[in-house]
Amino acid sequence: MRKLFYSVLLIITIISCKNQKPVAKGYQGQGKNAVVSTVSKPVQKQWKGIWTFDNETTFFSNDFESGRLNGITSDGNNHYTALITAENTPVNVSPWYAFKVWSKTPKTITIKMTYQDSRSRYYPKISTDGQNFTPLDSANFTGINKGTGDFGIKAVPEIVEIKINSSEEPTYITAQELYGSTRVKNWIDSLSTKPFISTYEIGKSREKRAMNLMEVSNGEHKKAVMVISRQHPPEVTGFLAMKSFIETLSGDSPKAQKFRDNYDLFVVPLMNPDGVDNGNWRHNMGGIDLNRDWQDFNQPETRSVRDFLIKKESEGYEFVFGADFHSTWDDIYYPIDTTITGKKGKIVFDWINNIAERLPQKHTNVKPSKDIKPTMVSRNYFYVNHGMPAIVFELGDNTPRDFLKEKGKVAAEELMDLLDNQN
Ligand SMILES: [Zn+2]
Repeated sequence: MRKLFYSVLLIITIISCKNQKPVAKGYQGQGKNAVVSTVSKPVQKQWKGIWTFDNETTFFSNDFESGRLNGITSDGNNHYTALITAENTPVNVSPWYAFKVWSKTPKTITIKMTYQDSRSRYYPKISTDGQNFTPLDSANFTGINKGTGDFGIKAVPEIVEIKINSSEEPTYITAQELYGSTRVKNWIDSLSTKPFISTYEIGKSREKRAMNLMEVSNGEHKKAVMVISRQHPPEVTGFLAMKSFIETLSGDSPKAQKFRDNYDLFVVPLMNPDGVDNGNWRHNMGGIDLNRDWQDFNQPETRSVRDFLIKKESEGYEFVFGADFHSTWDDIYYPIDTTITGKKGKIVFDWINNIAERLPQKHTNVKPSKDIKPTMVSRNYFYVNHGMPAIVFELGDNTPRDFLKEKGKVAAEELMDLLDNQN
């Protein structure tokens, strides 16, 4: 009997061990990208204006850059229901929202946020000036129909209810910090006061906004680094890391000066100005995910960068590094596997390792890709068509903002060291 008991126990142990998968730590990244058409599709253009309630005493507005509020109703007793919808579907689950509320007399209002068929990905940020944002106090946040998953969209509530102290001065309620095309241009202009930085248009978006390119160059060196960001409008944290990265490369340190003695830097900080200013969840105003259009180039935004790169290469430029900044559920790197890029691609992995050594406080997973054709995404196009060792540099939606800044700075310093060694 005892023998049988131990035999059964042994069998159970073997079976349970077999079923035990190694525990993966952190965000493991998205799967292979499906090949999709990038021919333009209809987009629902958002109505913009002011909603007025309670005998003209309470107001909501989406009428500003990056604003998104598709509808709002009053349920009585200072309770409102907001509807947030996407520009078109199918679309990635990143329900962006941004609106203002104010009232003639101070009061506490409750807003129920609904996202059509999606869920509440972005934790609300609050601001009174549209420049400085803080996360909503958690005491004023209630998740409804909480997710059942451990991670990603399945782990967030379907609906949220937030409490806001409204007064005559408008309060902004946004998915992430606001960086519309005007604010981004102000940042570019502030850097362009340096003698070695110039800005010019390389094309127009579908709605004729400027595709601005920033050139950091103290003379033609014919070796260059290419950086882009914000193909996806809500991905502000990627933009913030990119901003710190560019500020470091164009800074006054001896390292940065030496870098600029050997390399030029080209930056398109806002790849999707229409999507950003219209408060889109993902797409441009052609209804397309721009980071699937680097094969067929059906969209003007991707075409402008393609034409720029072709022109620079015809002028004799060699691109030595390319980075595309994005945001997702957590920090992650998507380089191209060295079985594809060989010795040339090693710099990307050295770079990742060097950044990790300097920032041990936050582990970042690496997911190398072997699929580079059809090119579809910028990173593949950069490598396949221009020989650039390239990476998709992803930051988490909720990565602390001071850490994003530090990561951008460290990433720039480590890249300058590696490129200096190559020179
Ligand atoms: Zn993205």
